[in-house]
Amino acid sequence: MRHNLKDHQTPEWFRAGVVLASNQEAQIFLARCGAGGVNGRESHYRRFGLEELKRLKDLGVNLVFVSGQKGAGFEAEGEEVRYSRAVTERCHQLGMKVGTYIGNTLLSETLFKERPEARGWAVVNAYGEPYYYQSQQTFRFVACRNNPGYRDFLREATRISLEEIGVDFLHYDNWFSGPEPMWCRCEHCRRRFREFLVRKYRPGDFLDIYGVTSPEAIEPPNLVRYNLPWSGEPWRSPVIRDPLLRDWTDFQCQVLADNLADLAAYARSVKPGVVVECNPSGLEGTNTYLFKGVDHQRLLPHVDAFWSEEGSYAAITPEGELVNRVRNYKAARFFDQALFTYISGPGRGNEKINAVESLAFNPLSLVGLDPGTPFGRRVIEFRTRHRDLFLETENISDAAVLRQFESQAAFPAEARLQLQLAEQTLIQGHVPFDLLFDRYLDLAAAYRCLVLPEVVSMSDGQVERVLRMVRDGLGLVVTGAASTFDQHGRRRSSQPIGELWGETDPERNRQSIALRREAGRGRVAYLPRLELCRPVAPDRDWGYLGYRTFQLPGNWRELAGAVEWAAGGFSVYLDGPETVLAEFLRQPEKGRLLVHLVNYRTDAEAAGLRLRFRPELVQGTGGRVRLLSFDPGERRAEARRRPDGWLEVTVDWLETYAIVVIE
Ligand SMILES: [Zn+2]
Repeated sequence: MRHNLKDHQTPEWFRAGVVLASNQEAQIFLARCGAGGVNGRESHYRRFGLEELKRLKDLGVNLVFVSGQKGAGFEAEGEEVRYSRAVTERCHQLGMKVGTYIGNTLLSETLFKERPEARGWAVVNAYGEPYYYQSQQTFRFVACRNNPGYRDFLREATRISLEEIGVDFLHYDNWFSGPEPMWCRCEHCRRRFREFLVRKYRPGDFLDIYGVTSPEAIEPPNLVRYNLPWSGEPWRSPVIRDPLLRDWTDFQCQVLADNLADLAAYARSVKPGVVVECNPSGLEGTNTYLFKGVDHQRLLPHVDAFWSEEGSYAAITPEGELVNRVRNYKAARFFDQALFTYISGPGRGNEKINAVESLAFNPLSLVGLDPGTPFGRRVIEFRTRHRDLFLETENISDAAVLRQFESQAAFPAEARLQLQLAEQTLIQGHVPFDLLFDRYLDLAAAYRCLVLPEVVSMSDGQVERVLRMVRDGLGLVVTGAASTFDQHGRRRSSQPIGELWGETDPERNRQSIALRREAGRGRVAYLPRLELCRPVAPDRDWGYLGYRTFQLPGNWRELAGAVEWAAGGFSVYLDGPETVLAEFLRQPEKGRLLVHLVNYRTDAEAAGLRLRFRPELVQGTGGRVRLLSFDPGERRAEARRRPDGWLEVTVDWLETYAIVVIE
């Protein structure tokens, strides 16, 4: 499904796909943090000479990163800027695009001398102090994004990148904050927090929740000085009840989004068509809201690409969990973005499967692939030869799984685990689906089925919209305690979403068996819980969900079956093992259907795969089939039109990767 959720257009050159080579760190920083190496200066400034750039271009590289501003100051990084400009000129001569790195920290030893006022830009944490980016970089303070002086500094760094260096692309690194108790409490943050509360609440609600009529006296929580040692840190709790901590988290997410929107708009005003990317990290793993103040649905509409540096490299663990980055790729697809992520390199798992996973699910980017490795070359060659198949694709998705902010941020234990299990079921169960972020709930009406896995918190408005969409024909699958709390974390006496199946008592629902009902023109199915096969212990500090949560729940077939029933059947099916994943795509203008197949097993090929396509989907194609792969050996795909109009395609075997093309 294609949605248009961005506040800008992504330029054509970027939509054609990027392969990256990077020398993004300023030399002054590399030296100071002990990573410069012998003759570091010399080799740094010699790295991207014309010959080297020509070699990279021949390997398929079309985007080069250089340093824009690490935070040492404009004078201190003057030599670096001149080098970046020279590299940019050479790249442009060769027809390559260039981007700059812009950081989030203050390199105190140079910047504070150059700009004494910059001392006041540092974060003021709950101890009333600044803090280092990391303990071996004590010259590097994290900056407050609400500080007007620092915001001007970032704008100036942006202007220099665009006008003086002349780049086509901006990479804003570390677009996150925290973790608590490191969130900033400077005067600007305190003021903006109160303004945020005034905007967020209707006066009656504020009184009901805080017991006072206005937020004048509300201060950010101080979890350090007054904390009783036996009461524990709130983020270790399975539910965050304190409305102040919930609002403080919501505020951090909003601050990052508002500041990104401002900066990206400024960049586009200086240079229309510049590509903007940020690094907020990815979706899985930690509770990003509470840990980093990151809510992807608020950030991504303002950019064209985002980085996930998380380590969930493609693999099947000895216990059988299929580790994958499909959620991140789906988030990127939902917001029409490229995901930048690591593919090659030591400690990064299986380069081959990482790379084909990216080919399948991430058509705009091969960033993170080393174009110089033998396998890297094969992948780039394949993508270049068949570039037409990667341009302007949209995914086929019948179901949408809701990621609801308050449920995910404030119920870190169960709600996040159940969501992970539900998504894993749909990923490995070959269900064509999208992630749906709750700010875009109305888009659910465009799908056949909405899935609410343990969406504990829902506002009255969200419940009403779901009830209406289902009665108008949307399929719905609900698990667990969905809708038993409102958006402010207040427990309801009933479970209003249960109106759809005639039982609104949450306890009775919890103890019921799975059920299916018609509701108006729609269908609704309820499951009390997804059952773990192997125990997991999510990290209690930040809700980190380890590899064990990449498992199929014991009753996964029940969930997949419920989604299929509620959807009234899917548009496309893959009959094959759960260790083969599929990305179902179409190119409507070209009358083409595409299925990318990835076999995650490295010890066995997948045999006897069968695809089935609904007649409506196949209309407009000629029903001819091609099979493309760069795996060694011969393989075949055969198409057969069934009497009922469905198209069946069989693929005899698959080593690692193939694309089935129907046209
Ligand atoms: Zn601040």
